[in-house]
Amino acid sequence: MISKDTFQAINPVDNTILADTFANATPKEIDEVVEKATNAFTAYRKKTNAEKAHFLEQIGIEIANLGDALINRCHLETALPIARLLGERGRTINQLNLFASYLREGSWVDARIDTAIPDRAPLPRPDIRHILIPLGPVAVFGASNFPLAFSTAGGDTASALAAGCPVIVKTHEAHPGTSQMMSNAIYKAIKTCNMPEGTFALIQGNSKKIGAALVQHSGIKAVGFTGSFAGGKALFDYANARPEPIPVFAEMGSTNPVFILPEMLKNDAAVIAAGLAQSITMGVGQFCTNPGLVFLHENIDNIPFYEELQAKFSVIAAGTMLTPNIKKMYDKGALETQETNQIEVLAKGETSTLINNATAQLFKTTSQHFNANPSLAEENFGPSSIIVEASSKEAILKHASDLQGHLTATVFGTSNDLLAYKELFDILELKVGRILINNYPTGVEVCHAMVHGGPFPATTAPNSTSVGTGAIERFVRPVCYQNYPEALLPDALKNANPLHIFRLVNGEITTAKC
Ligand code: NAP
Repeated sequence: MISKDTFQAINPVDNTILADTFANATPKEIDEVVEKATNAFTAYRKKTNAEKAHFLEQIGIEIANLGDALINRCHLETALPIARLLGERGRTINQLNLFASYLREGSWVDARIDTAIPDRAPLPRPDIRHILIPLGPVAVFGASNFPLAFSTAGGDTASALAAGCPVIVKTHEAHPGTSQMMSNAIYKAIKTCNMPEGTFALIQGNSKKIGAALVQHSGIKAVGFTGSFAGGKALFDYANARPEPIPVFAEMGSTNPVFILPEMLKNDAAVIAAGLAQSITMGVGQFCTNPGLVFLHENIDNIPFYEELQAKFSVIAAGTMLTPNIKKMYDKGALETQETNQIEVLAKGETSTLINNATAQLFKTTSQHFNANPSLAEENFGPSSIIVEASSKEAILKHASDLQGHLTATVFGTSNDLLAYKELFDILELKVGRILINNYPTGVEVCHAMVHGGPFPATTAPNSTSVGTGAIERFVRPVCYQNYPEALLPDALKNANPLHIFRLVNGEITTAKC
């Protein structure tokens, strides 16, 4: 029996309640963890890049030490396959190590130095120096669909800790046991690396009130979130309504439009159909970069493409979704597409009577019908997508222009197609965070150049990425020191450049002293 103040995880395979009870955080506990994080910030923000790098690497070591117990618990809570979870654990550890190497290199602090020009006329120029400093305690809301890589010790936590910010994670109610184990790994690393107590805390909870109270707490200085539009926007609104508004970096997903250009479709129908079917349905479609809309030309040549899609979809097994609620929302969305919006089902995967199993579905409609039913442009999280047939190049470009903000846009085309549709890329650049040519959007590389972001409503902060080392920039702000004596400057800005980092000195990027 789940009491009002505690909750248990559910195994989505059969809706059984899993062992272990978790207590909803009380307002007093939220106050306490934020106070500890605020105190920890004083010391943690002064840790060197090397110390923070060692800490991040140690978290990775402790996660690996959790062994099979972590993977097994996570599998029970999410129904994600073991092989997928092993891969995700590797990705999580690699992500921590990537931030560690970025810290060790050190130039991320964006040191800028304009040395004094005392004899400048009519006025002398003072010595002015710039660096990035951490914002303070960050609240992180983990994602249901990446219980390891985008959750307790995932990208938001890694980038905030790398920046020098203490982190408080509000667990996702779908995987509290996994979150508890991951946070234990972080607590161990705090001890081993002698980091201040309060550098990290996990608060459990299955009530929206807990997340709201955390974001509204005056000690929290920024928020990282991955999840639904409704959730991200609610937290963004709480943050903006505070006496001291704070930045919210909410990644709220998107439909990730795909454009298939005519010559490519004619030449490579079978290959694209196979790749697209896989991209739409992998992981039961539960990726924020899942392609939910496909635009192409209405053409007699499309028939082999559609036949191939039907063949591929027909053998796709139904899969268990992450939570009963996500499955309910998926079915509702698919039903609305079919019945309310009267859309043809082009292809369907295998059905299953097992609980929380979702069937892959592919719909097809015309430009006119799509334009007349704006709800079709919204994400239906799961293994489904809508093909929109347009009658002309102009109609394709109009669909691109009408797009809201998305995480990705994908274009498939031959070199002739790409030249013929040059304008499409200028339009897409303003609509998304990542444009792919002849690649599939599912799969987000964790690297220095990645952008996992985009204009609203894909995110609440279009000038940011939540994946890759660029994610660290969300949790820092620039500060400028004017006419500071050398002794008071941080090492990154000292004349001798003791950290040997790249700096912008009088307009030139250099590692030289100044
Ligand atoms: P969610 O409902 O947005 O929840 C994510 C986290 O935010 C949870 O910890 C939740 O707390 C919290 N939260 C949500 N609304 C809140 C509010 N109004 N006030 C305070 N806290 C709030 O996401 P989900 O449970 O993972 O999945 C629901 C839907 O989100 C899916 O059907 C799908 O459409 C979408 N989704 C998108 C992505 C993506 O990559 N963008 C990923 C996963 C899911 P509680 O647990 O206490 O409710």
